[in-house]
Amino acid sequence: MFSKETIQKFQNTSTPFYYYDIELLRKTLEALKKESDKYGYVVHYAMKANANDEILRVIKSFGLGADCVSGNEIKKASEHEFEHIFFAGVGKSDEEINTALDRNITCFNCESLQEIEVIDELAKKKNKIAQIAFRINPNVNAHTHKYITTGLEENKFGINLWELEDVVMRTQQLKNIKIVGIHFHIGSQITDLSAFKSLCMKVNEIQNWFASHNVPLEIINVGGGLGVDYHEPNKNPIPDFESFFKLFKDFLEIRPNQKVHFEIGRAIVAQCGSLISKVLYVKKGVSTSFVILDAGMTELIRPALYQSYHKIENLTPSPLPRERGDSQQAGGVRYDVVGPICESSDCFGKAMMLPETKRGDLVAIRTTGAYGEVMASQYNLREKVKAVYSE
Ligand SMILES: *Cc1c(COP(=O)(O)O)cnc(C)c1O
Repeated sequence: MFSKETIQKFQNTSTPFYYYDIELLRKTLEALKKESDKYGYVVHYAMKANANDEILRVIKSFGLGADCVSGNEIKKASEHEFEHIFFAGVGKSDEEINTALDRNITCFNCESLQEIEVIDELAKKKNKIAQIAFRINPNVNAHTHKYITTGLEENKFGINLWELEDVVMRTQQLKNIKIVGIHFHIGSQITDLSAFKSLCMKVNEIQNWFASHNVPLEIINVGGGLGVDYHEPNKNPIPDFESFFKLFKDFLEIRPNQKVHFEIGRAIVAQCGSLISKVLYVKKGVSTSFVILDAGMTELIRPALYQSYHKIENLTPSPLPRERGDSQQAGGVRYDVVGPICESSDCFGKAMMLPETKRGDLVAIRTTGAYGEVMASQYNLREKVKAVYSE
């Protein structure tokens, strides 16, 4: 929901741009800290969701760790002085591993024996010991979109259970590696919390295996993936962190000296962001009308990439009474809302109900704080667009 003053500010800013509600971000972080601190859980921010400097500054001020998936993210996390840095990713290059070693990160989340052997070799050259966690594929279905599920055997991520024993035994032989934990991440935009319960059960079993093989673990990292409400951002601006953390408290068995770690991205930043755009044209098609925006898939690729839904609002109040279009129904008109990019997939939503819309109207595409700005491209030689902040 935007105040009159905010909309006024939008009207005087050239579009498109990302808008960040910093107050909502703070409130979200307060809620997250309140619930995670209850159980002594350590939360890392999954930086790939949004690496905007202003956003990082706010998140860092709440004392979160950082979860990075590239060498440049590690550099950025250390510039922002995040204390604990984890490094995840199925394809870490030698250069990135060296970056991580130079910055003495807390933990490498490792996805294969070959990767662990390379880290061992590079650590040896620097005369360092690398702390690692095994990223284990628990074969748990997150019931989310197939492109954002990661915890099934058919996905490229993690060490499979059937190879775990061999990988652990061989890792124990490596002199410049210290095993400190286990890591899981089953997918993203998970709204059915029972998937996390299944994860807890699997982690308990796996923990028993490590205990029976006398491999001590201090880090139990259960990843991220908590979903947000893309349909009702005004009703549910802050995710239900209370139920989320309580579920782990209830079902995850923890041994003395162990800390539970989370890597949360989307649930922290998604709702504080909107993509603000102007209507360039309204065009009648055969069976539908198109609202053509000045923002496209270059600014927000999620609908094209994952068929994801984003709520779209026309922020320009209509001067009543209004000229009525043919297809007008009670309460509005259905439009396909599209961008200007030369791709048919450059569509933000089909048959979206909006008030009658005209050239020059301001439109907000909601819940774009996560996997929006970070996924922007310069396709069609588009300009990189700016970010505007509420404060
Ligand atoms: C992307 C990612 C996360 C964060 O996922 P969200 O759904 O944004 O919370 C956490 N851990 C790893 C390993 C990831 O790749």
